[in-house]
Amino acid sequence: MRSGMVSVIGRPNVGKSSLVNALVGQKVSIVSHKPQTTRHRIQGVLHEERGQVVFVDTPGLHKVETRALNRVMNQAAAGAIHDVDLVLFVVELGRWTDEDQAVLQRLEGLSVPVGLVVNKIDRLDDKEKLLPLLQKLAERRDFAFIVPLSAQKRSNLGGLVDELFSRIPEGDPLYPEDMVTGNDLGFTVSEMIREKLIRALHQELPYSTTVQVEDYKREGNLDRIHAVIWVEREGQKKIVIGEGGATLKAIGTSARRDLERMLGRKIFLQIWCKIRENWSDDPKALKRFGLTPD
Ligand code: GDP
Repeated sequence: MRSGMVSVIGRPNVGKSSLVNALVGQKVSIVSHKPQTTRHRIQGVLHEERGQVVFVDTPGLHKVETRALNRVMNQAAAGAIHDVDLVLFVVELGRWTDEDQAVLQRLEGLSVPVGLVVNKIDRLDDKEKLLPLLQKLAERRDFAFIVPLSAQKRSNLGGLVDELFSRIPEGDPLYPEDMVTGNDLGFTVSEMIREKLIRALHQELPYSTTVQVEDYKREGNLDRIHAVIWVEREGQKKIVIGEGGATLKAIGTSARRDLERMLGRKIFLQIWCKIRENWSDDPKALKRFGLTPD
């Protein structure tokens, strides 16, 4: 048996989520994990008889600060890229931008092997062009392997999976199979809300924000969920809520829609934004939110 962690990185829109979804199956786009470990964001887990591959995405590395939360975040961020067995760098065929270059630069000096996935080969009009394009990419770094594929058309996914299994270490699966189907719904919901928050606020999102699901009730085909977005200051609360409540409403609507699609059930989602002063400096509060690494 083989078992390993693979960090999937690349600029937005190259097809990272499409790729992970194509590899692990439709159902799972967010997977639960023990919240007390780290803020590692697990995208999906591929189970096969030969082993298990855990795909994670890499949160940005935050600048070093001494506050308790930031230490935890830094450990999680650093861990995501250094503790993995392999990094998958995803790019789009025939399109190399400054953003791709920036991602490549972040990988400099990394001792973990980096495999290159060249996605969207279905867009290629002339097959003859493929090899020269791949050769050009090969010059940018000494990649462990280069796999051209199409996540959307599911072409050559098998080639990539073989490369993955040949490069991860021997070992027992990291996650039990039932976890891969996302049984920890509370965690799934809080991650979904967090993702929408990040999308809505970008850099404006206060660093200390966290999301907690306080109540989760299933009533037939309806799930009633109450969640809280915790911030530290009144000003931050204003940002999260937005003009006339517009931002929070948009976050809630978008999270609810995605959850309904993912779970196949009706969702009633209520989100509050509450203030807890300086909780990010308080180890007890961190523990309550599942943010202390064990
Ligand atoms: P991410 O931001 O890197 O996670 O990218 P997404 O997975 O969200 O994909 C970005 C866009 O590229 C979406 O519109 C996808 O439908 C599209 N896409 C992903 N994979 C392929 C592919 O293999 N071929 C083509 N033509 N489009 C793709």
